Amino acid sequence: MYQDLVSPRARSIPQSKTVAIADLAAKLRREGASVVDFSAGRAAEATTTVVCEAAKEALSKGDTHQTEARGRPLYLEACAEKLKRENGLDLDPATNVIATLGCKNGLLLSSMASLSPGDEILIEDPCFVSYEPEITVAGGVAVRVPLRPENGNRWSREDLESAVTPKTRAILFCSPHNPVGVVHTEVDLLVIADVAQKHDLVVIADEIYEAVTWGGRKHLPIASLPGMANRAIGLMGLTKSYSMGGWRIGYAYASEALIAAMTKVQQHCMTCAASFTQMGALKALSDEVTRSMKELWQDWEKRCEYATSTLDAVDGLSVAMPEGAFYAWIDISATGLASQKFVEKLLTEKQVAAVPGGAFGKTTDHFVRVTCVRSWEELRDGVERITEFVESL
Ligand code: PMP
Repeated sequence: MYQDLVSPRARSIPQSKTVAIADLAAKLRREGASVVDFSAGRAAEATTTVVCEAAKEALSKGDTHQTEARGRPLYLEACAEKLKRENGLDLDPATNVIATLGCKNGLLLSSMASLSPGDEILIEDPCFVSYEPEITVAGGVAVRVPLRPENGNRWSREDLESAVTPKTRAILFCSPHNPVGVVHTEVDLLVIADVAQKHDLVVIADEIYEAVTWGGRKHLPIASLPGMANRAIGLMGLTKSYSMGGWRIGYAYASEALIAAMTKVQQHCMTCAASFTQMGALKALSDEVTRSMKELWQDWEKRCEYATSTLDAVDGLSVAMPEGAFYAWIDISATGLASQKFVEKLLTEKQVAAVPGGAFGKTTDHFVRVTCVRSWEELRDGVERITEFVESL
């Protein structure tokens, strides 16, 4: 009823499958089922106490009003300091950084700031479920460029070059990658940087998993490559690494021109990131708190190792340890089930929620994504249930 009152653009956007499955798992749990939720990309741990205290203190001091649209100078300085300390980037907090309401907000602001209606933006396939819908909302056209497994799930220069048209305006990529777990090396980044410079493109780098890289790897921002500082937008967040998904706080960095454009969009659409969440995030990004998180991140690496090696040993499943981010990207081809069917059966028969690979890409319907950073107890329980489920097929 009244469907025609909904714009074709809004109608064309699918539901977020990850959010929908996490909501269903929460509903089943409320109804009394013992659900293991491996669907949403969130860790078991809550935000660390000192960070919560900093936000509470701000609230109790009456810090309840809007801040500057670009973010409070104190927060922006903490972001720039962290970007220097942890990422080796030299940025001016007065012009190059903006507070976002999480990385999704950063993605929308950067799409609005860099795309005109009908402009094409190259994105990875598979990729995070919200890229294409957010680009559509911003009026752009997402062009999926497959990550080829035979090339280590990375783009080659030819892959990118052959997708560029006169309408191409930007490239969006994610490293460490959700869902496949690739961490780009300098060589991988040079391919993207060269194509961007040759065709005068903006590069939006989703770096939300930058702190969680495994096997001694380190995240390298594409903005640090020669000639890239003025055409790259880095999207950073606290959602994943600091377990702050409910706070809706993050930050982005770019050239003065792009940040100024993103700020105008923020002024009109969101006003600003919440005042007290900026104060909590400021604390989280401090050297002291970041250092204290590292022990937990090492334990997350162990959880990823445990889940991937145990599931890889199951007849019918194939999964490798990710280079970064915290997902087991499981090839289920040998089970003969398509990914949607697999997750539906797994949820109804074993009460384990996972995300179908088909949600991320056009050629990944034989994969399922499992979040590995649940508590050890929940992880072991869930991995056992998946094992029993696959053995029963
Ligand atoms: N980018 C990627 C690759 C993600 O996995 C997620 C969260 N699932 C987001 C962005 C969204 O981050 P936020 O919750 O900070 O908006």
